[in-house]
Amino acid sequence: MIRYCPACWAENAYEASACTTCGASLHEPDKGFVERLIDAIEHPEPTRAVIAAEVLGRLREERAVAPLLVRLARKPDSMDVTTAVAQTLGLIGAPQAVPGLAALLLDSERPLPPRLAATEALAAIGTVAAQQALAAAAALPMAPRLLRRVVAAAQASLHQIPTETYP
Ligand SMILES: [Zn+2]
Repeated sequence: MIRYCPACWAENAYEASACTTCGASLHEPDKGFVERLIDAIEHPEPTRAVIAAEVLGRLREERAVAPLLVRLARKPDSMDVTTAVAQTLGLIGAPQAVPGLAALLLDSERPLPPRLAATEALAAIGTVAAQQALAAAAALPMAPRLLRRVVAAAQASLHQIPTETYP
């Protein structure tokens, strides 16, 4: 098991009493840990917001979805933050994230890395709405070639799922 430092979110051994990265005590009760991570989605320092998003993704923390969607929609924003937030929404697999991810994917003013992350997140979510968003992206005129390729790969990966698995 891993214990995340409440001060810097570095990974520590579960048995550790102090963070090996920053020295903070790990004996604080876990209460509020997820809440602090969710607050950090809005951290003004992009690196902090990225780490918070990554940890929330690994925790598959569904309470983070709404604040993640708020950050995802911010424009302009740090490209790294938008990318990490899209990846986290894919990891959590939240169907309610599809409209926000689709808006990012289809927005030609956004940089490519977050749009690629949105593509993969939509494939991971895999609902009918997610597939429709991928189809809309495939039909985009003037889309960058790499985006076309990643969208096509995402669509192919979804088509390999037998249709009987859909209710
Ligand atoms: Zn620490």
